[in-house]
Amino acid sequence: MDYEVTKSDAEWKAELSAEQYAVLRGAATERAWTGELLDEGRAGVYTCGACNAELFKSGTKFDSGCGWPSFYESVRPEAVELLEDRSLGVLRTEVRCAACGSHLGHVFDDGFGTPTGDRYCMNSISLNFTPGE
Ligand SMILES: [Zn+2]
Repeated sequence: MDYEVTKSDAEWKAELSAEQYAVLRGAATERAWTGELLDEGRAGVYTCGACNAELFKSGTKFDSGCGWPSFYESVRPEAVELLEDRSLGVLRTEVRCAACGSHLGHVFDDGFGTPTGDRYCMNSISLNFTPGE
């Protein structure tokens, strides 16, 4: 996939913190219950921690009890890229920012009680939050 935002590995490394780089560009997972945005409850918009593209709206955030910020729907279907991930010996669906290809987390179909039934399980460190509207 051709991304709107393309940077070299060295450029990403220079722009992002070591923790952000490990998750966004190395697909690491932050520890559960540690993310700053886990308990964020204000109205606003969640954007990509690497390129600032809009990804999720606060109205679709829900308390999934999994320890990571969870959303039932992205702001637009084309805002995220979904990829098959067979690491860890199980089939999961990786979620990346469609604008820059950075790793955000995974999506699962156990968003029980939500309008879509999906649970976008996102690393807090992969997101920026802008309160408002
Ligand atoms: Zn991005």
